[in-house]
Amino acid sequence: RLVLGIETSCDDTGAAVVDENGRILGEAIHSQKEVHLKTGGIIPPVAQKLHADNIDRVVNEALVSSGITPQELSAIATTVKPGLALSLGIGLSYSLKMVNQYSKPFIPIHHMEAHALTVRLLHNVDFPFLVLLISGGHCILAVAKNVSDFLLLGQSLDEAPGETLDKVSRRLSLINHPDCASMSGGQGIEHLAQNGNRKLYNFRIPMSQHQDCNFSFAGLRNHINHVIRKKEMEEGIQQGQILSCIADIAAATQYTIAFHIAKRTQRAILFCKKECLLPSTAATLVVSGGVASNGYIRRVLKSVTDSMDMALLCPPPKLCTDNGVMIAWNGIERLRAGVGIMNNTDGIRYEPRALLGIDVSDHVR
Ligand code: ATP
Ligand code: FE
Repeated sequence: RLVLGIETSCDDTGAAVVDENGRILGEAIHSQKEVHLKTGGIIPPVAQKLHADNIDRVVNEALVSSGITPQELSAIATTVKPGLALSLGIGLSYSLKMVNQYSKPFIPIHHMEAHALTVRLLHNVDFPFLVLLISGGHCILAVAKNVSDFLLLGQSLDEAPGETLDKVSRRLSLINHPDCASMSGGQGIEHLAQNGNRKLYNFRIPMSQHQDCNFSFAGLRNHINHVIRKKEMEEGIQQGQILSCIADIAAATQYTIAFHIAKRTQRAILFCKKECLLPSTAATLVVSGGVASNGYIRRVLKSVTDSMDMALLCPPPKLCTDNGVMIAWNGIERLRAGVGIMNNTDGIRYEPRALLGIDVSDHVR
């Protein structure tokens, strides 16, 4: 079985061909990061145009490097939600054209489920497992029960950790920093934090009194912004210039986010143990999504799993951020389980607005 996966939910145009054994036969990606860094955030019509300009090249590159012709594919899998409607529409319309041209089954993919199951392409991890998804748009703790059944334990009540890191790095003007100019917000903060002293700033860990597994990052971000403003005044510099204490603020930001995530995850593990939601031996925590590429956050989570007798698995950074491989692999998972395969796509209209009408249930509840 061979699946072509297409990803356009946000700002990366990705495509890949993956086989049943998780071999990546061909892949290609076009990142819009540099454009969006310059405008200080994603402008949806700009993202849509960049997807439209690049999708044909990216898909062809993935196919050509795989040595597979479209006729040989078993199915075409494409992200249909969640994401920016205008961006999703480009991938969906392109896929549906291919589906019709080559008479192939279509597999609609939930982007967060794809992040959650990427790990199974690399490791032999059986269901059920606990999954922590930390990315630019989400913060989710769930038990993955099978390919299409996820039990939601907690989620962010306001913004996602990647969004917080991106906003703090914008506020710190990392785009003007010689080391970090072309890095994503999270990468920039991680890079600077290596040389910072987190103890010089004390940001409170959010929600420590809350007896649940939800997350919150907006209050923390406000506090950090407040401290940055105060420091700018002390140093007599304008917004846009680089603070002398930037590494210390980055380190304290990363530390606080890491510990908030770790504490909520620890609660979730205790809950799973009490309710017998995970195997009694060799239970696994899977961490994925762009923020999971952060080495410091991984190390903090490793100390949590070590102390609770669990294994920790994270895909490599390249597979944590958005890519076509995870979409193709989710297609393989669905083919194997025989769920969510559409042999007739006549009913799907692919104007972005019509996306809401597609009958793909939102499994993350
Ligand atoms: P979602 O998956 O929720 O729809 P998304 O697809 O935009 O959101 P991803 O591509 O999974 O998000 O992740 C992008 C986020 O990951 C950005 O916010 C970025 O700052 C963050 N990120 C990337 N590398 C790192 C890193 N080394 N440390 C922390 N955060 C990082
Ligand atoms: Fe993502």
